[in-house]
Amino acid sequence: MSNYNSVTPEFIDELKTLLGEKYVKTDADTLDRYKTDEEADERCFHLPDVVVIPANAEEIAGVVKLCNKYLIPLTVRGGGTGIVDGAIADKGGVVLLMERLNKIIELNKEGLYMVAQAGVRTLDIQAAAKAENLLYAGDPSSSDSCQIGGNLATNAGGIKAVRYGVTRNQVYAVQIVTPYGDIVDLGSPLKKCSTGYCMEQLVIGSEGTLGIITQVTLKLQPLPPYKIDMLAIFHDQMAAIGVVPQLVKAGIDPTSIEYMDNPNVRTTSEYLEFPGAPHIEDGIYVIITIETFNEDELDMKMEQASDICEAAGAVDVLEADERIWSMRRNCLESVSLISKVCTTDDVVVPVDEMSDMIQYIIKTVAKYPFPLRINAHIGDGNLHIVLCKLDLSDEEWESELSRFTEEVYTYAYAHGGRLSGEHGIGSKKAHFLERFTPGGELELMRKIKKAWDPNNILNPGKVFNL
Ligand SMILES: Cc1cc2nc3c(=O)[nH]c(=O)nc-3n(C[C@H](O)[C@H](O)[C@H](O)COP(=O)(O)OP(=O)(O)OC[C@H]3O[C@@H](n4cnc5c(N)ncnc54)[C@H](O)[C@@H]3O)c2cc1C
Repeated sequence: MSNYNSVTPEFIDELKTLLGEKYVKTDADTLDRYKTDEEADERCFHLPDVVVIPANAEEIAGVVKLCNKYLIPLTVRGGGTGIVDGAIADKGGVVLLMERLNKIIELNKEGLYMVAQAGVRTLDIQAAAKAENLLYAGDPSSSDSCQIGGNLATNAGGIKAVRYGVTRNQVYAVQIVTPYGDIVDLGSPLKKCSTGYCMEQLVIGSEGTLGIITQVTLKLQPLPPYKIDMLAIFHDQMAAIGVVPQLVKAGIDPTSIEYMDNPNVRTTSEYLEFPGAPHIEDGIYVIITIETFNEDELDMKMEQASDICEAAGAVDVLEADERIWSMRRNCLESVSLISKVCTTDDVVVPVDEMSDMIQYIIKTVAKYPFPLRINAHIGDGNLHIVLCKLDLSDEEWESELSRFTEEVYTYAYAHGGRLSGEHGIGSKKAHFLERFTPGGELELMRKIKKAWDPNNILNPGKVFNL
C-alpha cells in the first residue's frame, strides 16, 4: 500500500499552471460539496484536498502525471449518483470532475454507433439516439443525473438489461487516461474481434481504479416503434417472481420485468403524491414492457403476457402509465420519507434462485430492528434490498446491518450469487469482496491493479484494498 504525500502549495501551483486557476478549487465550500456522493451517512464522508475540473483528456493526463510525481491519490467523479461510496476520496487528495467533457462527438446512423465524451449525461445520450429514431439501451434509473463515463465505470444496469444486457454490452470502445498518464484507445466499433485481450471490457466495471474513461463509443439499436407497458398486480411475491421464466420461455423477449414489493408501492405513491395508485393497500407490482417492430406482434405478445400473469395468480393486469414507471424509478429516493439514513444493496443471484433468495431475506430480516423494502430487476436476478436506520444509534445500526448483510451475502454466494449486480463495490463493500470472491479471482484482480497502477494513485481503497 502506498504512503501518500500531503498536498503541498507546489502541487497546487503546478495544477493551476496546467488547468488554469479557475479550474483548481481549494475553497472550503467546494471541498465540502465533494465530500460525499449519494452517501448520507456522515461517518463515510471525506473531504478532498483539491477539486480539479479539466477540459480534455490531455489535461487529465497532465493531472495524473502530477499525482504520480507528488504521490497524491486521485478519485474520479462523474455524476456523483453512485451508492457504494465510489466517488468519495477516502484517502483525500484530488477529486477530478468530468463535467467539462460533455460533448457528443459523432452519431453514425449507418454504423449504428455514437462517440461521446465521458462526462455527457446518460439522459442526453439516450435523447440524442432517440432523435435519430435509434436506441441507446443503457437505462439506469438515475439517467437524468449520472454520466455515461460513470455508467461504464460501474457497469451500470437498469431497467432494459433483461433484453439488451448491461452497460458493458452497449460499448464498442473506450479512451482512457492510464494510471501513469498516457492516453490510450481500447476497442473499436467492430461486430466481432478476436485480436488479443479485450482491454475495454477490463476497464468497464473497474470503478475508476484502472483508468479514467475520457471517451466512449456506444452501440446503438433500431428503436422499436411499438411498445406497451403492463402492470401485473399480485398478492403473493412468489407468484409474482414465478412469471419471469414463463415470459422468457414464451419467447416474449420483454424489454423490462421489474418488481416492487408492497412497502415500495405505498412509499413511492406517497412520495410522488399519487394516492390513486392501483391496489395500493396490498399490491405487489410487476411492470412488464414489451417492444416490437410490428403492431400485430405487439398485440399477440401482450395477450400472451397477460394470460401468463393471470394464470400465475395476478389479481389485476393493467396498462401502466408513466406514473407507474415513476414509482419504480423513485423506489430509492422515496425512502427519505421514512429515514434520513438508508442503505440499498444489490445482490445478484442466478435467475432461478431469485424466489428462494427473496424468501430467505424476508425470513432473515424478521430478526432485525429495521424495516425492509425490496425492488428488483427480477428478469436479471438482481435485487435491491433497502433498509432504513430509523432512530437506531450509529453503533446499533452498524452492528445489526453488518450481521444482516453477512447473512444475506453468505446465502447469495453459496447459491452462485455475487455482491453486486450493477452498483459496484466501491469502498462500502470492499471488505466483503475479500470474503465473497473466489480466492484466485481476487488475487488476479490485485495483480492487475498493481501492474497497471504501481503507485496505487487511482481511486485507492475502492473494490479491494491492496
Ligand atoms: C436514484 C438512483 C437510481 C439509480 N438507479 C440505478 C440503476 O437503475 N442501475 C444502476 O446500475 N445504478 C443505478 N444507480 C447508481 C448510479 O446511478 C450508477 O452507479 C451510475 O452508473 C453512477 O454514475 P455516475 O456518473 O453518477 O458516477 P459516480 O457516482 O460519480 O462514480 C461512480 C464510480 O465510477 C467512477 N467514475 C465515474 N466517472 C468515471 C470516469 N469517467 N472514468 C473512470 N471512473 C469513473 C467513480 O470514481 C466511482 O468509483 C442509481 C442511483 C440513484 C441515486
